[in-house]
Amino acid sequence: MRTLCRSLAFGLLSAASGPLLAAGAHVHGLVTVDIAIDGPALVVQVDAPLDSLVGFEHRPRTAAQRQAADAAIARLKNSVGIVRLDAAAKCEPTDTRVQAEALQPVPPGSTAPATGEHADLQASYSFRCAAPEQLKAVDLALFEAFARIQRIEVQVAGAKGQTRVVLRRPASKVALTR
Ligand SMILES: [Zn+2]
Repeated sequence: MRTLCRSLAFGLLSAASGPLLAAGAHVHGLVTVDIAIDGPALVVQVDAPLDSLVGFEHRPRTAAQRQAADAAIARLKNSVGIVRLDAAAKCEPTDTRVQAEALQPVPPGSTAPATGEHADLQASYSFRCAAPEQLKAVDLALFEAFARIQRIEVQVAGAKGQTRVVLRRPASKVALTR
């Protein structure tokens, strides 16, 4: 019985030590993008370390940092300036979300929550395309907009399954196979 207990404990230990590197790993200079195409609907999700966008990963402490944060968010909220699509596909933005917890202003009277060493920004761009069959590529303006981004790992999910593409500066176009 004693032996059984010991081997059970060993089993639990080895089960807990799985691979540590998962999707969404935080690497400075690397941005991950998920593109999902479903009929007329196109969704582009961007996950970026804040360092790659503004050069810091904490609440803005100076006027210059506040300005950098505001400029980055304003640029990312302009969906058609970040995700450029073939005009023939007649895509219209339907929803745009930009979220960066660390850059949120702290409401007066409350204390800022403790932040870790790293922080990310997530952006989500939804489009509806009247002629989705004309959509040949998704052109991402992220390298142009943010000098600190070096690499973009893109995953595309569509009717024909999933593909992965790695973009290195200055390449910006993700070809779509359908
Ligand atoms: Zn970081």
